[in-house]
Amino acid sequence: MDLTLDRTDAHLGATPDALAGLYAGPATALAGAPPARHDAARAALAAYDVRRYASTRNHLDGNVSRLNPYVTWGALTLREVLTSVRAKHGRMDRDLEKFVDELGWKAFFREGFRALGGRVYRSLEPYKYPTAEKLPGPPPGVEVGDTGLPCMDRLLADLAATGYLHNHGRLWLAGWWVHYAGHAWEDGERFLYRRLLDGEPGPNALSWQWVASTFGGKPYVFDGANLRRFGLEGCDGAPFDTDRDTLDRRFFGGYAGGGYARRPKEQPRTVRDVPVPRLRRGPGDRPVVVLHAERLSPHAAALDAAPGAPVVVTLDARRLREEGGTWGRVAFAAELALDAARALQDAGRDASVHLVEAEADLAERVRALGGASVVTPGSWHPGTWRTLARLDEHLPVSVVEDPPFAQVDAPLRSFSAYWKVARPQVVARFD
Ligand SMILES: Cc1cc2nc3c(=O)[nH]c(=O)nc-3n(C[C@H](O)[C@H](O)[C@H](O)COP(=O)(O)OP(=O)(O)OC[C@H]3O[C@@H](n4cnc5c(N)ncnc54)[C@H](O)[C@@H]3O)c2cc1C
Repeated sequence: MDLTLDRTDAHLGATPDALAGLYAGPATALAGAPPARHDAARAALAAYDVRRYASTRNHLDGNVSRLNPYVTWGALTLREVLTSVRAKHGRMDRDLEKFVDELGWKAFFREGFRALGGRVYRSLEPYKYPTAEKLPGPPPGVEVGDTGLPCMDRLLADLAATGYLHNHGRLWLAGWWVHYAGHAWEDGERFLYRRLLDGEPGPNALSWQWVASTFGGKPYVFDGANLRRFGLEGCDGAPFDTDRDTLDRRFFGGYAGGGYARRPKEQPRTVRDVPVPRLRRGPGDRPVVVLHAERLSPHAAALDAAPGAPVVVTLDARRLREEGGTWGRVAFAAELALDAARALQDAGRDASVHLVEAEADLAERVRALGGASVVTPGSWHPGTWRTLARLDEHLPVSVVEDPPFAQVDAPLRSFSAYWKVARPQVVARFD
């Protein structure tokens, strides 16, 4: 079925023209990207076998799932991933334990973003080691993948070709950027986010801060042996290919001898209530379901709350424009949105895709479909809640959340502090 992206009056396809202004750089397809389809997401989840995850996940060729682009755009929820992987694996051993922990990291960072909003983009704490002011922009050569360090160039090439980077690759790239090249984590965060299919504000910004030591007790440090051990070659003799004492003196001001700076006592906690509590009401009259970028799925609970209602799958054009993601990233989201609408049409529903420029236009669109109210999924993105609150000024909006991964009142000082509270709730579902 030839679906079109519908931007106010104009009917457009998910082509570079249709998405003009919403992405940055050339419209080059990503050869190694996963298919932006919901059947492919479900098939990849069903096929994933978690055996050997614990022992291999740190290796570049280890058995990681690569499911995260689907999770990030809400094609799969963390809970769906866990339920499926657990059912297939059947027992709680080291592999599943580790996998659950990693899902927990995503939940932790999402809670961090819910609690902190735009503050994740500014250093939450001082650096824990003495350092000169970090340099702005990317280190020389990064933009063209020619840094003079073949190991970093390989990571940059992987990223450019696939829109994905292995977790260890992200750690090395960020650690090199901030500590060894001496550039600001904030610019690294933007650089990576724009290129990742799974770029997500909380996990990305807070991981960069964790590496930098502005959200944690110490910097993330690696050396040349570490790269080689986990499968990254090409940096023998680089300034960081040395023993830990030399690294310490060369880049960290000898902190290891004198101890790190302390972390501030004030630390964030999870936010229990949703940002706009009044939207937690039951569906109103003549509802239309509006799906958004955090739940681009034909399986969202909001769809069941308004059976048979027309569906508008949305992407926020304003947010995409501001983010300046690559064509690969933006096209992935647009295709997932189109595919959700296509799947819903196949199931007999009236479904279309709409790029939101203003809430008033979206309200107009809902009315044109005969709607008088909106039902929509919950979100970990405070910006989406602000959009929904503005839409609610035009039409009553009702938020219907999917079953949560974890819902706890917990400290966000560190993953372990959060996970100590959240994990028991998550694994209790296994009994
Ligand atoms: C500098 C830096 C930037 C990062 N940017 C992002 C980002 O923008 N978005 C993002 O979701 N993650 C980010 N991560 C975390 C992590 O690298 C990715 O989540 C992971 O690589 C996804 O690949 P996967 O699906 O193969 O993971 P798997 O190892 O198969 O893990 C299963 C799932 O658990 C979650 N997960 C695994 N590891 C982590 C982690 N360390 N933190 C959070 N969730 C995790 C993901 O949902 C993932 O799909 C970043 C890490 C670093 C160090």
